[in-house]
Amino acid sequence: MTLRYDLHCHSTASDGALSPRDLVSRAFEQGVNVLALTDHDTVDGLGEARLQAQQLGIRLINGIELSCTHLNQCLHIVGLNIDPDHPGLREGLSKQQALRDERAKRIADKLAKKGIPGVYEAVLVNSGKGEITRTHFAEYLLRQAYVNSMQEAFDRYLNKGQPAYVSTSWASLEEVVSWIVNAGGIAVLAHPLRYKLSNKWINRALAVFKEAGGQGIEVVNGRGSLEEVRLAQQFAERHQLVASTGSDFHAPDTPYLELGRLVELPATLIPVWSLFPN
Ligand SMILES: [Zn+2]
Ligand SMILES: [Zn+2]
Repeated sequence: MTLRYDLHCHSTASDGALSPRDLVSRAFEQGVNVLALTDHDTVDGLGEARLQAQQLGIRLINGIELSCTHLNQCLHIVGLNIDPDHPGLREGLSKQQALRDERAKRIADKLAKKGIPGVYEAVLVNSGKGEITRTHFAEYLLRQAYVNSMQEAFDRYLNKGQPAYVSTSWASLEEVVSWIVNAGGIAVLAHPLRYKLSNKWINRALAVFKEAGGQGIEVVNGRGSLEEVRLAQQFAERHQLVASTGSDFHAPDTPYLELGRLVELPATLIPVWSLFPN
């Protein structure tokens, strides 16, 4: 039997809509056999997810998605099969969380200057105990009818060049890879085509990533086209990286982007799960 993998998704511990428990249940209903929960800069959802995975008999891989800054660009690095209690990782996460909170306050200040007050308090409540992400700001702007869609919130306020954009210096690429590797995990560059960077830029970044101990690249991503799979495959081949696959599922209201609904990895690549312990 071939197993169905989904190694990238989000719960309410970061900016997902489902609790870790409900997320695992949904993955199970979608026929996923091996699931990695990869919340932004937090491992707080893993305990609850593990309990539910044990209940349902699906395999949970401890994961995370870390933001980093490399040459003024924000990149996302997924860590798979990490020890969530590793002290070095924990220390790194508390730094990232402080940066995230500071960024949220600065975004809110900028929105206040545009006549939209009180947003920090609102997103704080709405993010629950989870990490505040820009998605929470976009949701608030949509809920309060400042915009008509999530995309408009980013295009008019939150994206680079817009009035509420804040540039954050996350930890470096080398640092976040070392946190993952030291915590026993496999570092994977997430959605390589979504940054809209040149191939040359990505190739250079991948050389640094590999040198730092990075081992994998997300070749199949829920939002990517087949053309993107092909391009990501070329990156994997060129840098001899193992291939990962994940939906980047955030919420049930995007039916085209479902847990476990992924095209197969190109057969010539080594899948990242070949590095998972048995
Ligand atoms: Zn990402
Ligand atoms: Zn993600």
